[in-house]
Amino acid sequence: MKEKAPRIGIMGGTFDPVHYGHLVTAEGARCVYKLDQVFFLPTGRPPHKSMKEVSDAEHRYMMTVLATLTNPHFEVSRLDIDREGVSYTIDTLRILRDFYGPEAELFFITGADAIFEITDWKDSDEYLTIAHFIAAARPGFALEELPKATQDWVDKHADRFHVLNVPAMAISSTEIRQRVKNGMSIRYLVPEPVEHYIRRNKLYL
Ligand code: NAP
Repeated sequence: MKEKAPRIGIMGGTFDPVHYGHLVTAEGARCVYKLDQVFFLPTGRPPHKSMKEVSDAEHRYMMTVLATLTNPHFEVSRLDIDREGVSYTIDTLRILRDFYGPEAELFFITGADAIFEITDWKDSDEYLTIAHFIAAARPGFALEELPKATQDWVDKHADRFHVLNVPAMAISSTEIRQRVKNGMSIRYLVPEPVEHYIRRNKLYL
């Protein structure tokens, strides 16, 4: 009997820190798109940020491992972190396509806000030929907010571009970092082990 082609989610993000919004997004995508596995892929050296703005990759990796530990469908990949130089998403997707083979269905999951400038990303025309794209939207997000060039990019492969509304994405990493800095509680915004990790390593102070 022919084996079912795997359906793999790739959750791309900086995860500085990872929070419940990310976890709800990944679990929502897994259920809606019937994914076998979701790989969290913390960014290495993202092309659009200076590394001064971002916490050390090992901290972001560790927090993501701690947050995903109890879900058997979640794993964390070091693919971007361990790669030398700037990590472009298209290179990551090519590696994963070669690894899983042409039969596999890949779903790249990230924040709707993160794709605003996608037409400026390296080889942006190729993305939707390799993977489906799931844009996790915060409450109130509308596709019409995207710049015209990005809307045209979406329209070209509309059947492979999906918007997933995630009310829990009202939580943001920026707000969590700010709350830590201001001595405010982050309880129930991040999993408890992540909160302990942040405190223990004096992150975001
Ligand atoms: P970002 O600009 O820091 O984030 C933009 C927004 O999207 C933020 O509101 C963020 O919320 C949200 N977000 C980010 N990742 C998410 C996820 N997995 N699920 C739900 N919401 C998410 O974006 P980023 O994290 O640096 O990058 C996102 C992905 O796009 C990464 O995989 C990155 O490598 C890729 N990217 C690639 C290129 C390129 O190849 N040229 C350029 C830019 C981005 P939080 O802050 O709360 O996470």
